[in-house]
Amino acid sequence: MRLLLKNATLVTQNAHREILHGDIFIEDNLIREIGPGLQVPDAETWDLTNHVILPGLIQTHVHLCQALFRNLADDLELLDWLSQYIWPLESAHTESSLRASARLGLTEMLKSGVTAILDMGSASHMDVVFEEMVRSGIRGYSGKVMMDHGTQPYKEPFDDIIRDTERLIHQWHNSADGRVGYALAPRFVLTCSDQLWEAVRDLSHRYNLIIHTHAAENKSEVALVQEQTGYRNVEFFVRKHLASPKLCLAHCIWLSDQEVEYLKDYHINVMHCPSANLKLGSGFAPIPRYLEEGINVSLGSDGAPCNNNLDIFIDLRLAALIHKPTFGVTTMNAQQVLDMVTINGAKTLGLEDKIGSLEAGKLADLTILQLNKVHHTPADNVISQIVYSAQSRDVVHVMVDGKWVVQYGRTVAYDEEEVVRTAREACAALLEVL
Ligand SMILES: [Zn+2]
Repeated sequence: MRLLLKNATLVTQNAHREILHGDIFIEDNLIREIGPGLQVPDAETWDLTNHVILPGLIQTHVHLCQALFRNLADDLELLDWLSQYIWPLESAHTESSLRASARLGLTEMLKSGVTAILDMGSASHMDVVFEEMVRSGIRGYSGKVMMDHGTQPYKEPFDDIIRDTERLIHQWHNSADGRVGYALAPRFVLTCSDQLWEAVRDLSHRYNLIIHTHAAENKSEVALVQEQTGYRNVEFFVRKHLASPKLCLAHCIWLSDQEVEYLKDYHINVMHCPSANLKLGSGFAPIPRYLEEGINVSLGSDGAPCNNNLDIFIDLRLAALIHKPTFGVTTMNAQQVLDMVTINGAKTLGLEDKIGSLEAGKLADLTILQLNKVHHTPADNVISQIVYSAQSRDVVHVMVDGKWVVQYGRTVAYDEEEVVRTAREACAALLEVL
């Protein structure tokens, strides 16, 4: 494929954060050239006057398996929300309900301009999630959720978890020409035995895998972790030799000063989930402090039942707003927040050399917006418009790995009406057997 996208505003997110007016030449799955006045006579050419091209947006903490549970678990704190609704619902998934859930979540995210995800999966039927990630055209990682410990009845035997995980790694890691991969997904400290954490560390080393988990989301959880292990969350990961740039921690709301030091020293990634943190009443993660310390922070919507959207533009705006009353109005400017869903997200995934900015040689993952509507008019301040004014309905086209996954606002792989219909049917069927 040889494609020339012309006359757009290009938010490059390169090292100088340049905003250019010009063209991008894409060949196969790569950005070959970027700049004004490109001439490629034999390329298919699109005129994108009045359009803005961004590096594809990156969501680093989601649960595709929970998309089907949207609107089913409101007004609860984390531990009740998990034990009363989320764990029973996740464990009731059949292949077809999980497929419906994955399609629903993927459709919503692609339409909001998301091109790459870090997903935490379910315990069973995980081939279905990988099949749908491959089919949808999205980039990213998922993994079977691991739980072998605690009083909850949804845990699995250690040996079964490891056997299933290794099978899935062999089946799906680096599949779809490297677009889809495996990330280990121990749920959180309280649901995993010492033996399981040690196995996670070994699997991460052996297969060079990201470790995707939750940490310090809720005060009661932090107290229980301390009671059961003798350590706080991040201390626990350091003691277990799990602390490294491969470790990706969702939430990190309640950390001690020492734990913040650990995040910095071990280059651990933080995934900020502002909507979920508010909806579960968990608290405000001190993100401005983490950014000041040079800790890599990216953004996630978390699960549909704790948000209740998977729309990255909602979390983008919220991330920009919620810290201003506490840290001052100049904190978390629009550029810093846009970094979280582009280049910082790429770092979390270990893909900063391949995605996260518009530069020659990087993979062609693009999100294309129209910012000339009533709600972003009149002044042209494109970063401000994207973070504070834009909405997912402004996403026109989305490309991943040189292929269109959304065109004119509609997903290429899925019929949206069918996605909605099958999700409604699957949800009703699931609730009947519970
Ligand atoms: Zn989560």
